[in-house]
Amino acid sequence: MNDADQSMSSACSIRVRGVVQGVGFRPFVYRLARANTLTGWVLNGEEGVEIYLEGSELRLQAFVRELQTQPPPAATIAEIEVHPAAPLGLSDFSIRESERKDAPTVRISPDLPVCNECLRELFDPINPRYQYAYINCTNCGPRYTVVLGLPYDRPKTTMKDWPLDEYCASEYRDPGNRRFHAQPVACPTCGPFYYLHQADSSDGAAIRNDEAIRKASELLNHGCILAVKGLGGYHLACDARNPAAVTALRERKYRKEKPFALMAKDLATAKKLVELSADAESLILSSPRPIVLAPAKVKLLGIAPDNNELGVMLPYTPLHYLLFAAGAPDALVMTSANRSSEPIAYEDDDALTSLAEIADAFLIGQRPIARRVDDSVARAGAFGPAILRRSRGYAPGAVATLPIERPLLAVGADLKNTVTLAVDGQAFVSQHIGDLEYYEAFRAFEETIGDLVSMYAVRWEDLLVVHDAHPQYASTTHALALPVGDKIAVQHHRAHIASVLAEKGAWEKRVVGVSFDGTGYGDDGSIWGGEIFAGSVKEGFQRVAHLRKAILPGGDAAAQFPVQAAAGFLNQVEGSPNLAESPFNFPSRYAQSLRLVRKQVRTFGTTSVGRLFDTAAALLGFTREITFEGQAAMWLEQLAQAAPSVEGYPFPFVDRELDFRPLLLAVANDRKHGRDVREIARAFQRGVAQGLCECVGSICASAGTDTVVLSGGVFQNELLLRDLKSLLAPQFTIWTNHAVPANDGGISLGQAALAAFASSERQ
Ligand code: ZN
Ligand code: FE
Repeated sequence: MNDADQSMSSACSIRVRGVVQGVGFRPFVYRLARANTLTGWVLNGEEGVEIYLEGSELRLQAFVRELQTQPPPAATIAEIEVHPAAPLGLSDFSIRESERKDAPTVRISPDLPVCNECLRELFDPINPRYQYAYINCTNCGPRYTVVLGLPYDRPKTTMKDWPLDEYCASEYRDPGNRRFHAQPVACPTCGPFYYLHQADSSDGAAIRNDEAIRKASELLNHGCILAVKGLGGYHLACDARNPAAVTALRERKYRKEKPFALMAKDLATAKKLVELSADAESLILSSPRPIVLAPAKVKLLGIAPDNNELGVMLPYTPLHYLLFAAGAPDALVMTSANRSSEPIAYEDDDALTSLAEIADAFLIGQRPIARRVDDSVARAGAFGPAILRRSRGYAPGAVATLPIERPLLAVGADLKNTVTLAVDGQAFVSQHIGDLEYYEAFRAFEETIGDLVSMYAVRWEDLLVVHDAHPQYASTTHALALPVGDKIAVQHHRAHIASVLAEKGAWEKRVVGVSFDGTGYGDDGSIWGGEIFAGSVKEGFQRVAHLRKAILPGGDAAAQFPVQAAAGFLNQVEGSPNLAESPFNFPSRYAQSLRLVRKQVRTFGTTSVGRLFDTAAALLGFTREITFEGQAAMWLEQLAQAAPSVEGYPFPFVDRELDFRPLLLAVANDRKHGRDVREIARAFQRGVAQGLCECVGSICASAGTDTVVLSGGVFQNELLLRDLKSLLAPQFTIWTNHAVPANDGGISLGQAALAAFASSERQ
């Protein structure tokens, strides 16, 4: 420090909140302080990173400026507080030990893709970590999938059993190094390795690291199916351009039609597979490296049947890069390794047993996975990025700040389940868990709750628990059995609307909320899913309009069979053609369901727009059983996308009801008269958008707002969103989900938001 600086010495203390632990924040601060000739210290405190600095006023200002504008790539700063302090006359800058935390409020970083510097080293033959699949640094690598507890330190990660050798330790201890306190740091000498396990040989573990990877890519080129251990679980991989391999994978996995995700070697390859808009390109390159849905440019047999879109992601672990570099096919199917509908396998023993019939060989890494985290799925949508499955790379990031001090646990819905834990008002949404009707998924649900609650050191007795209003949901039953005093039920579709407002922190904003959805338990015990609300999170939502009520024979089970749903809707449509005849050829299930409807046996009332879409799909030819949720509606959307723009069918809004009868009659008659099914699908979708637009216009006027919120599973329909944008955007402000899915993956956040206010009213 020179004399001039010393003569004007001042000091300050700084607190930084956000994702600032385990992302190279302290070494960054260390280097920045040194560069500005400042003295002091930095440490991980209870509420984030604490910094004390002294030096010249100008240098202090420069430090704060750079802290704000150039934080480490993996950090997210939520807040910086700067307070003046009295200079202590410190002579150097140091990194101090972490403070003990009894209630950790710092955040766990989501997993990060391998960074460019590590990639350079990975392919540098003279680097000690050349071709080492576990290379990482403070800017990249695993986080949530290796954390066993907080604070984030090596003994509390799945790397605890690999002591550092001298080389790694010297980097780990050097504040000037990129690997300073990089908890998962390792090298080929001291760290875990990858090995190839082949079902037909016992010497599997003998083939290690680069040799194993080379052999694995060879097998992929020969059409084999490989189980590959990744960040948050196992993938099943095969050559996407090899129809025999893809077919074998579908058969062995019992996965009939649900699309497979692809991993492309690099951006250039991805662009050959799909049409990437500028927004889609930044999404596919973004740090969570999600699977991005985009229009397909190539036809790949068996990858995404009946679908104009492909889901593509880029490599994100060093292993992926090594596989491609070793000559693996440049487009791989990379699908979650499980048997149909089960959660992704993540433990080695479990993978070896459960995937034995599916995989020809296993590429297994020794580093254990702390918890299962699936790949995320996103799309560059009409209203900006939309997340369809929020998991790896996003979870467990905070998505909202709720005005509640008490810890709160919202358990979500039974389909596409996620849970939300709010601590000090920070709402942490879990990774995608799955459909709780499956035993394994339900176990994962219990584990995730226990995991989050213990990670954030929340005491069960302090928790406010929030669940869906559906009395028979597995999540509800579980919530009600928890050893916790206070429980609140939140209605499903109000939670959908609140999830959008929670993302925005818009608690008092009066909006008109449209929840078009597959299914959800309504206030009157019927199956809702076409609801229009007015109100705010703070004051609650009044149901002000809805889809005309139909009958659902067999209740929720009707979601499996479009013709079964159709019976309950078409029963009300007078003058519709005979559906047993050509071109409809409805199977006998339709007539059986119709009898139930007429006798009112095992029937439920419904206002579900999801089932309305199913009915239209049935009329257009989708008369078989669906093999995954939302399949018929997606099929219809794909048809409609292939059509020119046409005039919409009538979907009038009368007496606070959207009347589906003219809409379905038009679909049935046009089909009967031989109109192109793509055009009919288009006119149906356009009609839905126009009817909703009319309805929203009238309700906004009486509710005195021009802000419209759209949420619920139906709004994954991109064509519907585009229509609504063109019809509504000129007059109204439209809010949709961005941080959490519009489908039931967003329910837990909405539950948390509504409960935060409901509970404050009670007190
Ligand atoms: Zn790195
Ligand atoms: Fe829903």
